[in-house]
Amino acid sequence: AAVGTTSGTTVSAEQAEQQRRGLMLVLSSPSGAGKSTIARLLLEKEDNLALSISVTTRARRSSEVDGVHYHFLDGKRFEQMRDADELLEWAEVHGNHYATPRGPVENAIENGRDILFDIDIQGTFQLFDKMRNDVVSVFILPPSIAEMKSRLKRRAEDSDEIIAKRMKTAVGEMRHWSKYDYVVVNDDLERAYENVRAILKAERLKQFRSPKIGPLIQGMVDDLETELGE
Ligand code: 5GP
Repeated sequence: AAVGTTSGTTVSAEQAEQQRRGLMLVLSSPSGAGKSTIARLLLEKEDNLALSISVTTRARRSSEVDGVHYHFLDGKRFEQMRDADELLEWAEVHGNHYATPRGPVENAIENGRDILFDIDIQGTFQLFDKMRNDVVSVFILPPSIAEMKSRLKRRAEDSDEIIAKRMKTAVGEMRHWSKYDYVVVNDDLERAYENVRAILKAERLKQFRSPKIGPLIQGMVDDLETELGE
């Protein structure tokens, strides 16, 4: 056949997107860098992105809803879940336990749905060890320590003692910035948000997330070779 007259194999952009494996978007930052706001905007505006709801032994803040912000549980139940291998990662932060339940995450990514994580660096490194290819990690930096401190203080729910603890944790976390795939400075919220969105968009298009697209593309190559008589 003459070039351009056969078209056995058709690949649509939609097919490519639909058949892909979901990704795990991990946002980390010291408290007060604006991570929660960016996470909220992403969840509001992005289709196909859901939050992984962690379990924690920390006391519920007045603004929080059980089952929405966290699943609040006691230490005993936490240990049961951990010992039954129901947790994908877990960590102790400021004296409380936090963990990611395994089932919902595995289910989502196998069905092509993306999951957003709001977890600390201990948890992020555990996900790196277990599922490096599925994880896209973004470290969000405050523009300055002074700004970070004032954001923490504005969140009036926490005492001075807790703020001091969080500052100390922040130093430890910021030392590891270079292990993340991306670093986004949050000096302007809109800009930081757009940058994270661009990261998400590009990462979704990585070809290894769409293993089923390979045979389709090969089909097109075969078609073309046939046309050209190769
Ligand atoms: P907060 O008590 O302010 O909600 O969270 C304290 C810290 O625990 C934050 O850095 C938060 O990202 C982290 N965190 C929340 N959920 C998890 C989790 O499931 N695993 C890990 N490793 N850290 C978490």
